[in-house]
Amino acid sequence: MSSIATLGSHCALQVLKGAKDEGFKTILVCEKKREKLYRRFHFIDEFIVVDSFAEVMDQRCSNILKENNAIIVPHGTLIAQMSSAEIESIKTPIFGNKWILRWESDRNMKEKLMVESKLKIPRSLSSPSEINGLVIAKRHGAAGGKGYFLATNEEEYMKKRDKLIEDGIIKGDSDLYLQEYALGVSAYLQYFYSELSGELEFFGVDRRYESDIDGLGRIPAQEQIDIELIPSFNVIGNSPLVLRESLLEEVYAMGERFVEAAKRLVPPGMTGPFCLEGVYDENAKFTTFEFSARIVAGTNLYVSGSPYSSLIYDEPMSMGRRIAREVKNANSKNSLSKIVT
Ligand code: ATP
Repeated sequence: MSSIATLGSHCALQVLKGAKDEGFKTILVCEKKREKLYRRFHFIDEFIVVDSFAEVMDQRCSNILKENNAIIVPHGTLIAQMSSAEIESIKTPIFGNKWILRWESDRNMKEKLMVESKLKIPRSLSSPSEINGLVIAKRHGAAGGKGYFLATNEEEYMKKRDKLIEDGIIKGDSDLYLQEYALGVSAYLQYFYSELSGELEFFGVDRRYESDIDGLGRIPAQEQIDIELIPSFNVIGNSPLVLRESLLEEVYAMGERFVEAAKRLVPPGMTGPFCLEGVYDENAKFTTFEFSARIVAGTNLYVSGSPYSSLIYDEPMSMGRRIAREVKNANSKNSLSKIVT
């Protein structure tokens, strides 16, 4: 029986709790500064204490993980803190398809996969001179919305971009990706695709609460103008959502198209958890502005199961536990190579 490891951040608690519930030994790669926090949780069996997460590539860490026959569950922090090449060089087996994480980090590759999935996506702009409506400027990778900003014309874009350069957050235009702003009700659709059963499971949906864009509505328009704030989209937390049942058919159809497209473009495909992120417009049509090709932090809402996972499982099934269940099933069928890379 193998053990399950992850980095101490993002959704580590949920992942390791789920792994423990499925009978695995749990290992946390933990930065010294967070050790006290994570020691509070007794379902974590072993700590590998590091100064920085990059040490997960080092010999010491690899050896401990190997001795424990560990599988790493990747999450947003891994993607935010390491380059695609670094992630791909990790020797420990990674749950899911580590090659698809590069497609998540690079905005142009990301767009290609969304187009191949026949998802409705906002237009991307190749130059600020093309701005002629509301656009959002986003950084590459999983920056969690930090330093993102809105602009309606080139001049406003330049002003805000220069401020970010001044603050040392970006180096220049090439660090930004421009996309039309999609108006509507945001929804982050959480899925799990099982390579073993060939089935797609819709696991839950959440909304994000982002600072300070979501706090702005509490200030009257005049004050908003007076304070000259450049709002950002830094995720602070998530809240639950359930969709009108009539929307579910399209939710599954979008997820299935994504799984099929990933199989074609990034073999072995979209194994395990992923998320389609976007907004529903006034006609209840979904525009996808982003995907995550791994577990998202919004699944932390549903440690005891979600309104959707409860329809599939007669026991509390978090996304973390679902991952561990897949590893367990693969172990028993001698098919581990199908679900790790
Ligand atoms: P993560 O990897 O954590 O999902 P990210 O850094 O890749 O985040 P996005 O999810 O692309 O960033 O964007 C962050 C936030 O910005 C979104 O949650 C959403 O509120 C807003 N946003 C991004 N793109 C658009 C868009 N085209 N239209 C409207 N809002 C958008």
